[in-house]
Amino acid sequence: MSRNAESTAFRSALEVIRAVEPRVADAIGAELTDQRESLKLIASENYASPATLLAMGNWFSDKYAEGTVGRRFYAGCQNVDTVEALAAEHARELFGAPHAYVQPHSGIDANLVAFWAVLADRVESPALKKAQVRQVNDLTEADWFALRRELGNQRMLGMSLDAGGHLTHGFRPNISGKMFDQRSYGTDPATGLIDYDRVAEAAREFKPLILVGGYSAYPRKVNFRILREIADSVGATFMVDMAHFAGLVAGKVFTGDFDPVPHAHIVTTTTHKSLRGPRGGMVLCQPELADQVDRGCPMVLGGPLPHVMAAKAVALAEARRPDFADYAQRIVDNAQALAEGLLSRGATLVTGGTDNHLVLIDVSGYELTGRQAEQALLDSGIVTNRNSVPQDPNGAWYTSGIRIGTPALTTRGLGAAEMDQTAELIHTVLTQTTAGANADGTPSKAKYNLDAGLADKVARQATDLLATYPLYPGIDLT
Ligand SMILES: *Cc1c(COP(=O)(O)O)cnc(C)c1O
Repeated sequence: MSRNAESTAFRSALEVIRAVEPRVADAIGAELTDQRESLKLIASENYASPATLLAMGNWFSDKYAEGTVGRRFYAGCQNVDTVEALAAEHARELFGAPHAYVQPHSGIDANLVAFWAVLADRVESPALKKAQVRQVNDLTEADWFALRRELGNQRMLGMSLDAGGHLTHGFRPNISGKMFDQRSYGTDPATGLIDYDRVAEAAREFKPLILVGGYSAYPRKVNFRILREIADSVGATFMVDMAHFAGLVAGKVFTGDFDPVPHAHIVTTTTHKSLRGPRGGMVLCQPELADQVDRGCPMVLGGPLPHVMAAKAVALAEARRPDFADYAQRIVDNAQALAEGLLSRGATLVTGGTDNHLVLIDVSGYELTGRQAEQALLDSGIVTNRNSVPQDPNGAWYTSGIRIGTPALTTRGLGAAEMDQTAELIHTVLTQTTAGANADGTPSKAKYNLDAGLADKVARQATDLLATYPLYPGIDLT
């Protein structure tokens, strides 16, 4: 396929949009420029392929397709069936999963589908049994009352937020924190690593219905075989949320004990992070949970997005190609090079390094909060995000950490040498930034001082670093 085809496709699309609302066309163009020029180290972002992007911009968006493949509540879904079945087939083959449900609109939605499936499968409730066999009319008020009480009183054990867990694993800002009685496991204060004996102890004491593995900000491999054994020892369902590292599972960097799919009863993921697909979510599960998972829409999801399922099918097909395994390995190689570059310059890293796609810098070593560091880096053309570190003294808002990840820059083609230069730029900015003060002279957790000339210089260096690795090299909008 000619590169020209990509330019023609996107240029024509913008021309059509511009005729209706030119400001939207301009914003789309400006977004490409911004993405091209910034050193994107956000661990949860990536750049989907032109084929994946184009698969979303069409009339599949017009279809309602509630139900599942071959069993829709709307007529005329034969083409939606084709793309949904293809996406599910690619997902099953790629991950070696017995069942795949590709309708979730995002990672949070995928988790809601999983929670409901596990509750429906596991909670012993005569009222729920009646409801499941669609005898809803037979349910008395007392049944409904019992149902709410039984479903609303279940236990979840997941990784604590400051150790790298996710809001949807039972924390207050998410409904999971309100639905479930939650307890969390942290990491060993000395090593920063998950202490599996402590997880086992917490599970024995707490007896959760669901044990959740997976994270957004833990820079190490997780042994899912051990977590499954812990779940089995207390009769818990083992769920893994691989939203962040699905690309490393797909690319066979995480295998054996570190591949969640053979060990978990149910696995959820996003499709847009290291997996490099469209924004969306997905659930993989063992056969016994498949029926409940397939009820995701309308149980907790709105109507499926057929255009996004088409894009999932494209991206998953890409992830099955041999070059994706190479990409996944380069993500980890790059993260390790970045970690080495930072360590050699004196930075403090949570766990002292990484074996996945992300690095967590403890910026208290630079006498900054995460918020100050994040803003100073952003002023210098380096896009990261602040993140708590274990037992963070600055809480979840200001934080003491900066999370950086390599999936996006690896897609652009940057390698170990550029990671070392990136480490140099980050270290320069952080050593040159000082904490600011409030009007009354007290130390501020948000204000900071950074010489504007230095920030500009680093931003230019960052742009130079990217110049050799153009983003979307086949797309020229001019
Ligand atoms: C990103 C993330 C999610 C949420 O994904 P969305 O698509 O933003 O809803 C859920 N779980 C984990 C572990 C994540 O990292």
